Amino acid sequence: MQRAEEILSSVFGFAGFRPGQAEIVAAVAEGRNTLAIMPTGGGKSLCYQLPALMRDGVTVVISPLIALMRDQVRALRESGVAAGALTSGNTEEETEEVFLALDQGRLKLLYMAPERLASGGTLTLLRRIGTSLIAVDEAHCVSQWGHDFRPDYLRIGELRRALKVPLAAFTATADEETRAEIVTRLFDGAAPATFLRGFDRPNIHLAFAVKNQPRRQILDFAAARRGQSGIVYCGTRAKTETLAQALREAGHVACHYHGGMEADDRRQVEIRFQREDGLIVVATVAFGMGIDKPDIRWVAHADLPKSIEAYYQEIGRAGRDGAPAETLTLYGPDDIRLRRAQIDEGLAPTERKAADDARLNALLGLAEATCCRRRRLLAYFGETAEPCGACDLCDTPPDLFDGTETVRKALSAVLRTGESFGAGHLIDILTGQGTDKVRERGHDMLPTFGVGRDQSKAEWQAIFRQMLGHDLIRPDPERQGALRMTDAARPILRGEADITLRRDTIRTPAGPVARALVSDEDAPLLSALKAKRRALAEAARVPAYVIFTDR
Ligand code: ADP
Ligand code: MG
Ligand code: ZN
Repeated sequence: MQRAEEILSSVFGFAGFRPGQAEIVAAVAEGRNTLAIMPTGGGKSLCYQLPALMRDGVTVVISPLIALMRDQVRALRESGVAAGALTSGNTEEETEEVFLALDQGRLKLLYMAPERLASGGTLTLLRRIGTSLIAVDEAHCVSQWGHDFRPDYLRIGELRRALKVPLAAFTATADEETRAEIVTRLFDGAAPATFLRGFDRPNIHLAFAVKNQPRRQILDFAAARRGQSGIVYCGTRAKTETLAQALREAGHVACHYHGGMEADDRRQVEIRFQREDGLIVVATVAFGMGIDKPDIRWVAHADLPKSIEAYYQEIGRAGRDGAPAETLTLYGPDDIRLRRAQIDEGLAPTERKAADDARLNALLGLAEATCCRRRRLLAYFGETAEPCGACDLCDTPPDLFDGTETVRKALSAVLRTGESFGAGHLIDILTGQGTDKVRERGHDMLPTFGVGRDQSKAEWQAIFRQMLGHDLIRPDPERQGALRMTDAARPILRGEADITLRRDTIRTPAGPVARALVSDEDAPLLSALKAKRRALAEAARVPAYVIFTDR
């Protein structure tokens, strides 16, 4: 067998392997069943293309997209490798050429769409041509959990059993359910050699901040990076427009992008972003899939992404060129509430909801991390790492304290009030505020009344936010604003587990507050209210809020 390094340079023209490639190539070339998980752009194709050249016989590559197959076949041929594809996009001549090459034993790699496996002749063909390895690209397509599910991927397991050849599966999706499903469906549950590599992007600086004045926070972040290309991700279409406007008013070149825009307008933004230096695109998650700009210097999230995978994907668009890039993700209790509600209200089946909840929890855990964020992010992808020195928590270690007693007090306030109230009321009870609501319900008689006087209201808000982030309490989907205790909190309540919290208090905007009191909560009034709030804020030069009250 020719050495892998030789083929790497002589055929592919690469000076060395990327992280993880060498081990995967070795395992696949030896004929071990292999599952390799690498991020997008990590160089998965090489991990089956190179072993295909080291092994006797033909390597069959199952790939979900005709365009992907064509690109790879073209690139391989340009490097002098005999490769071909059988797809529904072929012309008759192309197909004939492939069959001829197969019959003459000239082909090393045969690409095939999964649909092809449904046709009866395929197995006979693959036997006849001496298939010695099956490579499955985008293997997460076998998972019924995912969005990319392709029913024909389910036939690959049968094919492996029938041909009795090794199988190597590749994907960028690292979450555990998907991984387990790949093992079950492709390998009959027998653990393949598994490689999980290269998720670290050391040039990307990670940072989270608690949302207090979100617009100000984003404007400040952008101001410190004036003239650099960046993306701001927002949770709603409307916000992309208002925030882009605010950035322009602050002297940046910025435009918005979301799925509600005409295709032409979206295309315009994509082209400008690709070509111009220093453009800021304020977008929903609709922006990104086709974006391949190497020098995006920063990515900010004005709202919390929906899962840790989404977060990783979105920040991963920064710094593809390897030069330093910055990120900032804002989050607050409202984000947590919104993301939970989206999962609760979605149409997904119960198991799927549990998985989505777990993915959101992983992101919240990252947001509320108490030490190196990168280490925690990589741990989620199954990689171990030393503290990185390139995240906000490594830069400035947070002030930590043993929060066990504090959390117990808060949980007991939640339980003693029947899991029917929101953080504001519970904090009033804990800090001993005898408000009307507290008195009317007799909550000033509870044993928890005033037990949290040693901490300020702002400190308690930070504690409740962290409790939400650690999934110790959850908003009740049935009762607006009410918090329930979760099973995860029981060990703490029983004294079987401790919890460390951060002492970062949310700084509330300083200075006087202008108020517009309104008694009608009719929906159509809302936009008028917002305009009024804006006018008031501008006239008085202080923050203004719309407060709903029933009095
Ligand atoms: P993935 O499928 O993991 O998203 P690809 O296989 O498409 O990634 O590879 C991404 C890019 O990296 C391609 O342009 C490929 O040629 C390049 N690449 C892969 N391996 C190496 C290497 N060892 N050295 C340099 N470039 C590489
Ligand atoms: Mg790929
Ligand atoms: Zn770190």
